[in-house]
Amino acid sequence: MSAEFEVQGLKVTDIAQEFGTPLYLYDGDSLHDRMTALREQLHPRLEVFFSLKSNPNMAICSLLHAYGARAEVSSLAELATARAAGVAPGDIVFLGPGKSRAELAACLDQDTGGVYAIICESFGELALIDEVAAERGVVAPVALRVNPEFAVKGSGLTMGGKPRQFGIDEAQLSAATGLATRHAHVRLMGVQVYMGTRILSESAVAENTERILDLAERLAGSLGFPLEMVDIGGGLGVAYFDNESDLDLGDIAARINPLLDKFAATHPDTRLVMELGRYLTAQSGTYITRVRYVKTSMGENFAVADGGTNHHMAAVGIGSFVKRNFPIQVLNRLDEPVSGDWNITGPLCTPNDTLGKKVALPGIRPGDLIGVARSGAYGPSASPVNFLSHGHPAEVLVVDGTAHLVRDRDRPEDLLRLQRLPGKTSFGAPRAAE
Ligand SMILES: *Cc1c(COP(=O)(O)O)cnc(C)c1O
Repeated sequence: MSAEFEVQGLKVTDIAQEFGTPLYLYDGDSLHDRMTALREQLHPRLEVFFSLKSNPNMAICSLLHAYGARAEVSSLAELATARAAGVAPGDIVFLGPGKSRAELAACLDQDTGGVYAIICESFGELALIDEVAAERGVVAPVALRVNPEFAVKGSGLTMGGKPRQFGIDEAQLSAATGLATRHAHVRLMGVQVYMGTRILSESAVAENTERILDLAERLAGSLGFPLEMVDIGGGLGVAYFDNESDLDLGDIAARINPLLDKFAATHPDTRLVMELGRYLTAQSGTYITRVRYVKTSMGENFAVADGGTNHHMAAVGIGSFVKRNFPIQVLNRLDEPVSGDWNITGPLCTPNDTLGKKVALPGIRPGDLIGVARSGAYGPSASPVNFLSHGHPAEVLVVDGTAHLVRDRDRPEDLLRLQRLPGKTSFGAPRAAE
């Protein structure tokens, strides 16, 4: 018998048997360890807000919340997810460059939300927030998202110092005298800056933090509003590829805690917020597909599996023109020696459907389980799950040694349910006579 991948003592072959493939498998212990390390090592005043964008599964949000995370959301569904997961409205911020009137209303309605802060991304949005709040007879708590003049190197996707649809330019805000009192139904109360994603440099995190705290203080001072919250963004990365290495959280803490300490001492009532998506969820998840066919073509080996980039677009290679492979293993035969290079492909009718290119793996046979590790962030929700109408994969979360199905795979009827033939009210059913 070969060694096989296990999560909390549960064997991958048993899980695949019980829940079918393809599926995403999450380890609740990993989520726990991530949150615990952050809470133990980072400054006690720094609150971690989970960016649901990275993994919108309600059970993941609920577990992270149980371990101390609050929520950062960007749509009605994400807001509803955070609420269903038990996050109090006072621990939710709502952000996004294109918020609708309905989203702003939901942020302000006490029965559906009444979020802690709307993070505002434009002067036009600020006017709409004022209008929607006035209709409700409330005053909206608003933090300004700033597009800063500075840029800090070290992020996979840099945000500052460039024309962006996100936030309001620092220079425009500096010149916006009277902004704090411009709208009667808006209460400016905070500043948010997000410097980019996939940051793998401890010094970049520290430099961002220092500059953001300074910027927040300057802006609140010049515009004349009390700093109830500073959201220093986040964007901490995890290593996916050979040439990358994981962040050293102890090093980050050693660099930013003194900055936060100094700031906290002079701002005893200001909430300090860090938004994290990938850093919380990536390591907890493995995407698992079962090999259907093996074949060779012009000297190369192919393993064709039951799921591919339709569920895991990021595995195609993020932010790079050269294909770089996520960590990939044959999960049911971990201890077998490498015997050759394999292309791991999925069921789509496009050559781009390649999870792994020339990956050194043991000999693959039909029925083997292929795992793509570090896949708990930006998985199905950031993939074309409806391409070729295969639908969303199942998601399974292991908590306290028990595997829970936390999302059913889509069935064909799920994909057809919202479609209509002209003249019919629902698929297959004729419209009732008038
Ligand atoms: C995407 C995003 C996040 C989460 O980013 P990660 O890199 O997954 O941590 C947080 N804040 C904002 C504004 C974002 O756009």
